[in-house]
Amino acid sequence: MPVIREVRVIPPPPGEAPDQSPMKVSKTLIVTRGLTHRCPNCGAKKLFKEGTLFRLNAACPDCGLLIERDEGFFLGSMTLNYGVTILGVLLPILILYLVGAFSGVVAAVLAGVSAIIFPMVFYRASRSWWLMSYYFFLPKHLPANRGELAPGQDENI
Ligand SMILES: [Zn+2]
Repeated sequence: MPVIREVRVIPPPPGEAPDQSPMKVSKTLIVTRGLTHRCPNCGAKKLFKEGTLFRLNAACPDCGLLIERDEGFFLGSMTLNYGVTILGVLLPILILYLVGAFSGVVAAVLAGVSAIIFPMVFYRASRSWWLMSYYFFLPKHLPANRGELAPGQDENI
């Protein structure tokens, strides 16, 4: 088995300085924009198509940021929506039923109605929060933070 004795830091090629520039869009701004359903890149309130409740724009009309990044990208937002529905709505109803606040019939009807209504109400927030969490952990993927792409360079860095 080979033993690594020293670690060398390889300097960047001549003419290419390492990117030490501060990000134009900070993580705080990404969270603020995500919580208010705005584009994480430019701040425009255009994640959803105008006049619709549930139709997401494929890209931001103002800055061109891809919102529908890949097929299945928003699978996580459905998981988020499901989790918040379970933990934030159905679990409290179950607890209230168990402590005797509701009868079984009232709890079942309330849980059934809430399980249908709440995910629809939370839909827009779950999409925005999922996009926010992606760029919160990978802020350099925002076009405002990474700058121009070189020809042939993947936008995922
Ligand atoms: Zn934008």
